[in-house]
Amino acid sequence: MVSKIKNPSRTCALLAAAGAGQRFSANPAELPKAFQSLHGKPLLSYSLELLRACEEIDNIIIIVSSALEASARNLIASGKSTRPETVISGGKTRQESVYRGLLAAPPNTEYVLIHDAARPFLTAEMVRESLHSAQTHGAAILALPATETVKLSLDGAWVNDTLDRSQVWLVQTPQAFAYKLLFEAHEQALRTGFQASDDAGLVENLGHRVHLVKGSADNIKITYKEDLAMAEQIAAARFPESAPPIRIGLGFDSHAFAAGRKLILAGLEFPGPGLAGHSDADLICHAAADALLGAAGLGDIGTHFPDTDPQYAGASSLQLLGQVGELLAPAGFRISCLDIVLAAQTPSIAAHSPQMRENLARVLKIPPACISLKGKTTNGLGFVGRSEGMACWAIGLLISAA
Ligand code: MG
Repeated sequence: MVSKIKNPSRTCALLAAAGAGQRFSANPAELPKAFQSLHGKPLLSYSLELLRACEEIDNIIIIVSSALEASARNLIASGKSTRPETVISGGKTRQESVYRGLLAAPPNTEYVLIHDAARPFLTAEMVRESLHSAQTHGAAILALPATETVKLSLDGAWVNDTLDRSQVWLVQTPQAFAYKLLFEAHEQALRTGFQASDDAGLVENLGHRVHLVKGSADNIKITYKEDLAMAEQIAAARFPESAPPIRIGLGFDSHAFAAGRKLILAGLEFPGPGLAGHSDADLICHAAADALLGAAGLGDIGTHFPDTDPQYAGASSLQLLGQVGELLAPAGFRISCLDIVLAAQTPSIAAHSPQMRENLARVLKIPPACISLKGKTTNGLGFVGRSEGMACWAIGLLISAA
């Protein structure tokens, strides 16, 4: 059911990657979603490389936030461009970003294909089918029939109606249009202040019919951080040859001694004084968790368990480490080894190290032999030597679970 575009036409692909990704991460210091690593390369690269491989596409315009224009240009330069590729900065809304893309398209553009960079599993068939449909019908969108029962709620608290799910379609990208039609739809929306969450909505508002092209369940959109784990599984299955064989991560943590606190190290209680902290301040678990998260490219312990969140007050860090361990397999990894150094003037952990390793191994569901734990003093040097606190380093080695 692969159809070729009948006539040679000038087709421009707009790759939308300017979204702030607020639902993905509220942390402005974090790498934006389009540049997050998925199976060893930036999310944006997946759609870009696929569009480059489609002979139907004559031009590619990548729309990013102005802060990322240089990064996007570097990404283009590091790959193999096969046709004109332009980077432009987006607007305040997705709608405005796409409009800017339309303005930047070459003057002879006849068809335009719009795709969200947050959907990395674009295929050549999706591009072909949606363009072919746009050529026949003027406007085409990829969509999937709803499989779950769909309720309508006007206030988010009470159900107002149950929709007939056989009539409900969940919309994806790419969306393809005759250039003139989409441009007219955007111009009208601009004149009237009309906003829609996709480009087809603007074309519908113009009174033009939009044709449905069957999408794919694999064509997922990365909205939340958890979606990356599922995407990693799809990427590992689809691109097994590019599986990163090993990943290494470094974790570090330090805490000050504090009166009236228990001293918990690798889940084992020692005679005090304890350490200050929001959780149980088990810095061995914190360093180990950061080493594993770092190796898997999954951020750090603060992003997963913020110390501003009351639910982690006094939390067992050993349990949190166990939760970190649960993130690794979905991300395509298993632990090869974990090597930990605790710097503390007191206590001496040597006699307790086997029990501590066993605690860590139990929550991470790996053999204790995969974990090494050493205690060191600093011979009286620094804050550790002055018994003001402790420090811990951990290195984690992950191997591809594929
Ligand atoms: Mg800590």
